[in-house]
Amino acid sequence: MAPKTRIGVLIETGDPVITERLLPEGVETHLDGWDDVVVFRATSWTSVDAPAQIEELCRETGLSHVVICGPSTGADFVPEWIEAEDRQPWVPVTWAPIREHYSWTEKDSEARTAKTRRLVEMAVARTRGALPCTLTNVAAERRVAVAGNNHAAFQMASALLDAGFPVILIQTGAADGCFYGIDQELVERVTSHAKVRVVPEVSIDQVEGHLGHFRLRVRSPEGRSFLRAGALVVAVDAEMRPLRVDELPAAPACVLSLRQYGEAIAAGELDGTAACVWLDRNGLDRRCAGQAALSSALEHARRGGRPTLLFRQIPVYGHSGQLLYDDARAAGVGVIRYDTAPRFSQANGALRVAVSDTVLPEEVLEFAVDRLVVPALVRPSDSHARLAALLRQPLDVQGYLQPGNVRHRPVGSARRGVYFIGGCHDQCDPDEAGLEAQAVLADLMAVLPEGPIRVPAEKVAVDKDKCAACLTCYRACPHGAIQPNESQHCMDVLDPACWQCGICAAVCPSRALEHGSLRFDAVHETLRVAAREMLGSRPIIAFACRQSAVPAADAAGHTGLALPTDVLLIDVPCAGLVDERIVLDALEQGARGVLVLGCHHGNCRSLWGSDLSGKRVQKVRGALGAIGVDGERVRFHNVAANEPHRLAHLLADAAANMPAGWIGEQTSPEMEPCPA
Ligand code: SF4
Ligand code: SF4
Repeated sequence: MAPKTRIGVLIETGDPVITERLLPEGVETHLDGWDDVVVFRATSWTSVDAPAQIEELCRETGLSHVVICGPSTGADFVPEWIEAEDRQPWVPVTWAPIREHYSWTEKDSEARTAKTRRLVEMAVARTRGALPCTLTNVAAERRVAVAGNNHAAFQMASALLDAGFPVILIQTGAADGCFYGIDQELVERVTSHAKVRVVPEVSIDQVEGHLGHFRLRVRSPEGRSFLRAGALVVAVDAEMRPLRVDELPAAPACVLSLRQYGEAIAAGELDGTAACVWLDRNGLDRRCAGQAALSSALEHARRGGRPTLLFRQIPVYGHSGQLLYDDARAAGVGVIRYDTAPRFSQANGALRVAVSDTVLPEEVLEFAVDRLVVPALVRPSDSHARLAALLRQPLDVQGYLQPGNVRHRPVGSARRGVYFIGGCHDQCDPDEAGLEAQAVLADLMAVLPEGPIRVPAEKVAVDKDKCAACLTCYRACPHGAIQPNESQHCMDVLDPACWQCGICAAVCPSRALEHGSLRFDAVHETLRVAAREMLGSRPIIAFACRQSAVPAADAAGHTGLALPTDVLLIDVPCAGLVDERIVLDALEQGARGVLVLGCHHGNCRSLWGSDLSGKRVQKVRGALGAIGVDGERVRFHNVAANEPHRLAHLLADAAANMPAGWIGEQTSPEMEPCPA
């Protein structure tokens, strides 16, 4: 027999906004007579001690579900499930964040009360549909595979070995696509370590599995073999094209590549000479070319040389870059920013440079140099594209791995346990690579502990009988969390890899997939409650992405921006979860209109979830238009977490301009009567 539902509504009384402005008007009395609901009050349900406090409450009173009415900032402390007893399953926690964006900025107390009550009811309806959580232990491999053959790869391997992680160093990709050489002492230390296995001259053919359990197929001259690792760090370099000396306006003997320049300075061959380092000759050079040029020029100046840097964009970034720039200037390195390309001439065997600084364009600076230094052209290598395809991760517009998605930068990816550092994402400065290696290490210490990994089971429920093995979900999952189960002709969801974005459930044509903690039934029940008439009109339902629109709404509340009373937010893990069925259900239940609020293009945690949602909304608008319903009732908007004003404006616009009434009450001259 299924355990009895007993929902605890926990109201926070320590917050004067809640107790003085929201509750006196009777949220608690409103819940009187609800058989399965019991109200508890405490000063705080959202502090660091809250999980233990709630756990005890669940144990003592037999709560099966919990709704917290408090500041949404408390969500940082309280997990999605509470371990109510020392046994499975865990108690699901749902939020009614009445404190911030949802109601407290509302000036009209009747509207404030109505909205507060409605939000608590919605949370209760939603939690009724939430399933308790079961945790499983997944065996995890602690060995980390590092792919690359450059200083970033060795820095990563060294950091991992120091922290006790065994390492497989897969020497794949270009070894020279970088402006910096490799520290041979570091190479020696890493390759001679007892916990490292070096796999030389291989390319990676296939990557399967998930965090804690990756299986890599590699190809070497000897044939194919398999490697197992708990995580994969990609540190492959870009490809450096040979310098075309014949294209340069100087005698070949005078020309050095940036890397040769550094090596010649270290060997003492350029002491006392003058050099011109010409950056941004063919478009803008990589940021790390500027950094390498500055470090070499600084060393050159310290050795009595006279280096001058010519560039179009400031060749520094970050705090360490600024310090380097300041040191170089103090040591006497000349820097000239140009708009018009410099001219070079040979006279009496000497190379002369003529260039104007952007600050004084009318003045031409002329000086003689012994050497012309030019960075070789660097482009993403073939291995970038190949690895992106194997890992099913996107490339950026230039073709480097890991686009500038704020959810995953600087080192993470949409695939748990897969990281990108160094030249694979347009960065090869050793200092930066060292910091990136530390960032990867910090994450791995958290996600790859010694022993098994504990993960919620059935993040997505698969109905094997309904699955047509069409692979749509496999292709749509941005996190590599679905794989075909060939023996059973269906799909397996890999719980350790799944982010519960819900995209797979939204795209499955057979409805064979169901989001584990936000099932369609739960959404339907929430909509049934939310879409009822409130203060004499029908509300607008806004499905808000938890990564972007929800924090924007929180920020709007903190900033004191009033959000319209009749727009009710329902938070979703990703806008990509909101499928046509959900949008139409909201309209059918009585909503005046529907908003879907997702991340901006390129910043979705689930890569294409937000874009997918935008396209879907377009389709729904078209379909509604075809049956005579104003498509303006359904809208999609991109909102970033730091755009509270934009969010407030979009919601106010929807509240003011969406057609009034419910579609069931709409009469349209274009609507044809249904044929009998
Ligand atoms: S999309 Fe649905 S039907 Fe197609 S493979 Fe996935 S679960 Fe099966
Ligand atoms: S919920 Fe998202 S991450 Fe999980 S399997 Fe479905 S698409 Fe992949």
